[in-house]
Amino acid sequence: MNVKQTIPKHLRFTVEDFNNRFPDDAACLDELMRLRFPNGISYCEKCEKDRKRYRIEGRPVYSCGYCGTQVSPMAGTIFEKSTTSLRLWFYAMYLMASTRCGISAKQIQRETGVTYKTAWRMFKQIRSLLSEPDLQLEGLSVEIDEAYIGGKNKNKHRSKIRDMRGRDADAKVPVLGMVERGGRVVARVTPSVKAETVYPIIREHVLPESVVFTDDYCVYDRLTESTPYTHRRIRHSEKVYVMGDVHTQTIEGFWSLVKRGLTGVYHNVGKHYLQTYLDEYSFRYNRRHKGNLIFNDVFEKVSEKAVARPSSKDRQMQPE
Ligand SMILES: [Zn+2]
Repeated sequence: MNVKQTIPKHLRFTVEDFNNRFPDDAACLDELMRLRFPNGISYCEKCEKDRKRYRIEGRPVYSCGYCGTQVSPMAGTIFEKSTTSLRLWFYAMYLMASTRCGISAKQIQRETGVTYKTAWRMFKQIRSLLSEPDLQLEGLSVEIDEAYIGGKNKNKHRSKIRDMRGRDADAKVPVLGMVERGGRVVARVTPSVKAETVYPIIREHVLPESVVFTDDYCVYDRLTESTPYTHRRIRHSEKVYVMGDVHTQTIEGFWSLVKRGLTGVYHNVGKHYLQTYLDEYSFRYNRRHKGNLIFNDVFEKVSEKAVARPSSKDRQMQPE
């Protein structure tokens, strides 16, 4: 694992730290229990009230201190129906949180001996935790830029494929990115780069008082009249890239990070999955000041995105 050594000490969470915190499956289960049910208290359906839970030795369940009804902290989470060990799941989350450019299923296959299929599925599930569809950018200077990802001439900026015709151009997936300068990013797969598609996405994530910076691509022509933003443009078509504070270099930097990762680490990403990869890159980018403590944020998402409280039916389905 290539953990960047430039991370300040207080933001480091090394493989050794990981091993100390999660020595085995039981330790992982206890942490998961603490995360999902603070102080070991959860609702007991039989008692119809909150009850203190106690670990049952040798089984991944906790029982109600009053009636003995069992509950698993894995119920409703991405771990629920998996036969892969919890510690391996946690390690996969750790790897995904600790990289900057993405982590391939091949690597976890090599490191841990799980099959490629299992590794791929784990990462797919972990990625599903990382979407933040409601993220509202609060910075008042926001750069916006679209890009095209995938296809045969993969990962080219629009300026380089503008004249292309036919299937190659069609195979590319348009994506729209919005980034607060010095802050967070929102990246979305979009069905097209027409104003009627793009403007609603911008309005959803960017505050009305914001100054937005774009290049001179025609889709942004009506931005001032159609939206509540102050709009500043840089003339990329005339090969001008920076003029004072007018530029889109922050969002272009994010796109190049995504494109490098998708080309170098993930090789082929189908259109269908592209948004989940954008979510992965955005999640890390938005927490880049946290070093590899990003793991904790990924871990918290396990509980945040778990489906409701485990039902009695779920409990009966718990493995012995
Ligand atoms: Zn009970």
